[in-house]
Amino acid sequence: MGIFDTHAHYMKDDFGEDLETLLADLPRHNVERVLAIGCDLPSSEEEIALAARYDYIYAAVGVHPEHAADLPEDWERRLEELLSRDKVLALGEIGLDNHYPEPPRDVQREVFVKQLEMAKRLDKTVIIHSREAMGETLELLKQYKPRGVMHCFSGSVESMHEIVKLGMYIGFTGALTFKNSLKARAVCAETPIDRLLLETDCPYLAPIPFRGKRSDSSMIQYTAAVMAELKGVSTEEMIEIARKNGERLFFGEELK
Ligand SMILES: [Zn+2]
Repeated sequence: MGIFDTHAHYMKDDFGEDLETLLADLPRHNVERVLAIGCDLPSSEEEIALAARYDYIYAAVGVHPEHAADLPEDWERRLEELLSRDKVLALGEIGLDNHYPEPPRDVQREVFVKQLEMAKRLDKTVIIHSREAMGETLELLKQYKPRGVMHCFSGSVESMHEIVKLGMYIGFTGALTFKNSLKARAVCAETPIDRLLLETDCPYLAPIPFRGKRSDSSMIQYTAAVMAELKGVSTEEMIEIARKNGERLFFGEELK
């Protein structure tokens, strides 16, 4: 049993002509499942189309904070429709990003809150993006108590514990392998092993030894190796545990 990459973005614009070959090859690299994640309505549709063509690919649909300002008027109705499609496992990625001044914080917050409400109403799992916005994100998560994952976790040990207490999962990407990722590693070491998820966030955040290159799900074994060392298990065990964690979160208990 192989890898579950719980956070990938497979867009034609980023992967070009390579995309289909790369995806078809993933099972040969021990990749068993991929959750392909949308960032706005068009990319969400693109990921759903991939899920329809590859049996090991699933989709998540949502509006990333970066795209919170350029939405059509009927975006909520359209997102809800996308959520009802086949093999759509989650609402994401959604959240708050204060790294850049745009879109304005109140616009990001409004779009995030509407999607948290949608997840509650429709009983959907969420994938949360939070960058330089941990306090505000935590406050909203405590209010809405969604089922889900804090993706590419960059917070403190204290905030990790708060998120775990809410029943949520913690995702780490290839950034965990970077030499300067001491904080993320310290947090990963403290995170309960049954709450850890492996992510690529491809095409970004390629792990060492591919740092700076375009990443894909086959590289996740390098992230798994670092995570395994931090948790004191073998890489194979870590891959197995993280896959089961992802299946529990995204497919529910029936798929044990
Ligand atoms: Zn992402």
